[in-house]
Amino acid sequence: MKIKLTEKENNSTIEKMKSHWNLGPEKASSDPKDNGEYWKKMASIWNVSEKEARRRLCSNCKHSCCTEIDLEQMEFVPYNEYDKYGGGRTYCEEFNFICHNLRTCQDWESTCDYVTESDDTMTMKEMLYGK
Ligand code: SF4
Repeated sequence: MKIKLTEKENNSTIEKMKSHWNLGPEKASSDPKDNGEYWKKMASIWNVSEKEARRRLCSNCKHSCCTEIDLEQMEFVPYNEYDKYGGGRTYCEEFNFICHNLRTCQDWESTCDYVTESDDTMTMKEMLYGK
């Protein structure tokens, strides 16, 4: 297997993601009261409620993981400070770096659109409760 991602590249991308794509929160947490300032900012960027913003995590982003190569790369890059509060590693296919389940960035995209027989797309909520 060819390793695509070095520790240096990973760290450099994390810094760029923090500066340009609002990767965060720095000290991620599953407590719905934590990191209010960060989640309010993301809610404003996405034009959704804070409650909705807090649902949008790398863990459920469509760009998140996982080919066999991604999994091997996650093991190849040593653990660092950013792993401490991330809730576990996943791999960002969009920006090619190791992201974390409890973080997000402003490029988050849903995995929950379904194509119906008539070719309309429906969200998970619409599928369950109707349009
Ligand atoms: S694009 Fe998705 S998986 Fe990648 S950092 Fe952003 S939210 Fe996480």
